[in-house]
Amino acid sequence: MQGLSWCNRQTLQNTTWEDVQRRVSAPVKAAIEKVMASLDGGVLSRDECLLLANSEGDDLFGTVIAANQIRHRLVGDVISYVVTRNINFTNVCFVGCKFCAFSVGPRDETAYFLSLEEMEHKCREAEEWGATEVCIQGGLPRNLPPFYYRDILRAVKSATPKMHAHAFSPMEMVYGVELTGMPIREYLLMLKENGLDTLPGTAAEILDDNVRHVLSRNKLTAAQWREVIETAHQCGIRSTSTMMYGHSESYEQWVNQMLLFREIQSCTGGFTEFVPLGFIHDNTLLFAQGLARDGGTLTEHLKVHALARIVLAGSINHIQVSWVKLGREISQLSLLAGADDYGGTLFEENISRLAGSTAGQYTSAAEFQERILDLGRVPAQRNTLYTQYTYPAAGSAGSSGEKTQVA
Ligand code: SF4
Repeated sequence: MQGLSWCNRQTLQNTTWEDVQRRVSAPVKAAIEKVMASLDGGVLSRDECLLLANSEGDDLFGTVIAANQIRHRLVGDVISYVVTRNINFTNVCFVGCKFCAFSVGPRDETAYFLSLEEMEHKCREAEEWGATEVCIQGGLPRNLPPFYYRDILRAVKSATPKMHAHAFSPMEMVYGVELTGMPIREYLLMLKENGLDTLPGTAAEILDDNVRHVLSRNKLTAAQWREVIETAHQCGIRSTSTMMYGHSESYEQWVNQMLLFREIQSCTGGFTEFVPLGFIHDNTLLFAQGLARDGGTLTEHLKVHALARIVLAGSINHIQVSWVKLGREISQLSLLAGADDYGGTLFEENISRLAGSTAGQYTSAAEFQERILDLGRVPAQRNTLYTQYTYPAAGSAGSSGEKTQVA
C-alpha cells in the first residue's frame, strides 16, 4: 500500500487532534478549529475547503485526525450497516459510460434480463436471509416497456410488502421520463405510489459537465441530476449522495460537489448519507484510452472521507465507505478518517466486480460486526433511512439477543 508513515491503524487510532495540531499549518488549523467549535462545515469558506482538499503531509494527517474526532462528536462510535440485496436486473445498456465494465450490447453472449418473476424470487430470498432493503439498478436497454420501472416496484412489493425499495438512479429516472412522456414530478410521484421508497444518488460521478463529457457523452447532465434529486426530495423520496473519485477529476471538483450537496441539503434535507466511490480502473475503456488515472491513492482515500466529514458536518452526517471498491484494509482506515457507515451486505454486487474490484460480492452481518469490533467501535444494523438501529448482543452473529432503537 502506498502512503505516508501515519497511514496505519495504530497511528490513526492512537493520535488525537491535541497531539497533532502543533504540526499543522496555521491556516489549516484555523479552518479545522472553526468546524470543531461549531460541528458545522457551513462555517468554512470555499477557499478553506480547498485548502483542506489540497492538504498534504502533516496538514493532511491533522485533517484526517480532526475528521475522526468530529465524527465521534457528531454521531458517536457506532458503525452501521444495512442488510441489503443488490438486484442489477439487466446489464444491457446503450449509454456507454467509459468507466463502466458492467454494461454490454443486447447481442453480447453475456447479456441478461431478469424477468419480474425472477426479481420477485430474489426479493423473497433476500427477505428470508434477513434483508431489509433491495437495491435495484440496471443498465438502460433500448425499447424498455415505458412503465417497466413501475412494474418492477409492483413486483417487489407484491412479493415482499415490507421490503424497502431503494431503486433507480437519476439516469434511470430521466430515461423513465423519456419513455413515458410524463413530467419528472408526476413520474416520481407515480413510482412512489407504486412502492419506491428511496433513490440511490448514483450517476453523479463528478457533477461537472466537462468531466461528464469525457466519462460518457450520453449521460444525464449535472443540471438534470440535480433536478431529479431535488424533485425526488420534494416528493418525499429521500436519496443518498455519491461522488466517483480517482479518475480524471480535480480536488476543486470534490469541493464543488460537496458544497453543492450542502446547498441541496439545506433546501430539501433529503440526503441520508454521502458515499465516495473510488474509481476501479482495471477493465475500463476510460483507463485503457489514457483518459484517467488508476484510481485513488491511499492518502486520497483517507482524504476524501475526511474532507467529506468536515465539509458536510451538520449537513450530511453519515459518511459511508464503499467496501466493495476499497477492500477491507482501506475501508477500515477510512472508518478512522471520518466515516461511520459500512454500507450494505450486498449479495451479488456485479458492477464493481466486473470493473476489476476484488473485494467480493458479499460481506455478512457477522463479518461487519467483527470488523467493527476490531476497530473498537460499536456495530449496529440500521434501516435505509438511519432511523432504526439494532445492536447485536456481544458474541452474537446478529440473530439473537439484539436490542432495537428507533431514532
Ligand atoms: S454506468 Fe450505468 S448508465 Fe453507464 S454504461 Fe454502465 S450501466 Fe449504463
